[in-house]
Amino acid sequence: MKYLGAHVSASGGVENAPVNAHKIGAKAFGLFTKNQRQWVAKPLQEKNISAFKKNCEKYGYRPFQILPHDSYLINLGHPVKEALEKSRKAFLDEMQRCEQLGLDRLNFHPGSHLNQTDEESCLKTIAESVNIVLDRTKGVAAIIENTAGQGTNLGYTFEQIRFIIDHIEDKSRTGVCIDTAHAFSGGYDIKSAEGFEKTFKSIDDIIGLSYLKGMHLNDSKKAPGSRVDRHAPIGEGTLGSEAFIRIMNDERFDNIPLILETPDDNLWEKEIAFLYSAAV
Ligand SMILES: [Zn+2]
Ligand SMILES: [Zn+2]
Repeated sequence: MKYLGAHVSASGGVENAPVNAHKIGAKAFGLFTKNQRQWVAKPLQEKNISAFKKNCEKYGYRPFQILPHDSYLINLGHPVKEALEKSRKAFLDEMQRCEQLGLDRLNFHPGSHLNQTDEESCLKTIAESVNIVLDRTKGVAAIIENTAGQGTNLGYTFEQIRFIIDHIEDKSRTGVCIDTAHAFSGGYDIKSAEGFEKTFKSIDDIIGLSYLKGMHLNDSKKAPGSRVDRHAPIGEGTLGSEAFIRIMNDERFDNIPLILETPDDNLWEKEIAFLYSAAV
């Protein structure tokens, strides 16, 4: 079964996210559990938590259909001690919010070396950050998202992601989210049928598809291999709709949240309907 949806707004309270997802015909959704552009947010209130759970139950969203995303400010591989501490503290808060909401996974971007350290020590710092936070939380898995490799962002090769996983102690609470736009901009051909097969075979060989706990379905505005992260609506970018139709017809992508992060929220309902209709 495919669980497809979009990264919906939680403005006005987290409990609005499942309502917004239901409105567009989504069977999965992504959300921020706090303002993603601010370091500190006030704690979730008991009334928001219970309303969130009630709405998820009402509209049929179980934890494995929900993929929260952490704040863009967090850099778990930050080379400067104080800044790293700030990121770790914020990430812990995000994981605890997921715990409170009864969610089982939190998607994050690995981190950036900022040209102040080498790749390997940055990747080790990221793994150490995850270890610290997993140690202090229960029931929520840290989901590493592949990046486009923009700037000094790491996690744009499957080998880098494997390296992080190798250094994480609790692998039962570790997962991976593959963003199609990031993979394509990061240099993986998922456009041709052959390239698609090859890419997912190498994900399986290098990382292991058992770690796949979510996907971000985005077309890309930029050229393949450009390492620039700009999403486009499905079928309107350089990737095109074929890759998404393949995903919808491939059982390797069953039973995980498939989340659109495409730029036009007015199109989500149509994009979801189109992709479901493409599943034969
Ligand atoms: Zn992301
Ligand atoms: Zn993404």
